[in-house]
Amino acid sequence: MPDELLQRLRRFREDAFPRYRARFQALVDDGQHPSTLFIGCSDSRLVPYLLTGAGPGELFMVRNVGALVPPCCGTADGGHHGTAAAIEFAVLNLKVRRIVVCGHTHCGAMRALYEDLSDEAVNLGAWLDLARDAVLPVERPTPEALRRTEQRAIALQLERLMDYPMVRRRVDAGELSLHGWHYVIEDGEVNVLDVRTGAFVPASRLAEDDDAAGASAALAVDVEP
Ligand code: ZN
Repeated sequence: MPDELLQRLRRFREDAFPRYRARFQALVDDGQHPSTLFIGCSDSRLVPYLLTGAGPGELFMVRNVGALVPPCCGTADGGHHGTAAAIEFAVLNLKVRRIVVCGHTHCGAMRALYEDLSDEAVNLGAWLDLARDAVLPVERPTPEALRRTEQRAIALQLERLMDYPMVRRRVDAGELSLHGWHYVIEDGEVNVLDVRTGAFVPASRLAEDDDAAGASAALAVDVEP
């Protein structure tokens, strides 16, 4: 039986690629200059290109379980910290102007914070600690509690981003803004964190020139429990 994914690769090369050929060639000749670092959950239902309409060269992307940001410092353990490396590269080399942390509804990572993990999932358990402070004091989370946990976790990651010296420096200089997005899979809506109030506001209600979503130097994100 032919491999379906291989068939799709062939279809891409023959049908879709010709429309993008010039664009990719330009991105090869001139290099990439994406304006946004997108840190998104690995969940297959979160499709950043669909949400943002971004094309080739626009998003520098790193995805992981839960859209989490590891600590910048104090992890000099010789480990391989892919997400931290991506943040450093995006800010120092690519000089992105925006970092988006994008979580979503029905996030399995956030639900797992309330459940027992398999003993074999040692990496997953340690990784989820990065969202542990978002957990609410409930035994069994309601859908509403899960949603609040997802949003609190996003705010936590933005705070942790500010611990990266190159992030803080560029935010302070007004050259970089941080954004928290919570994608509602079933609605197609993205709720955007207003760092002034800690509330998430539907993107469809935000005025185009509203900079509420952009973090300032005095980033104080504290989503209500
Ligand atoms: Zn998720």
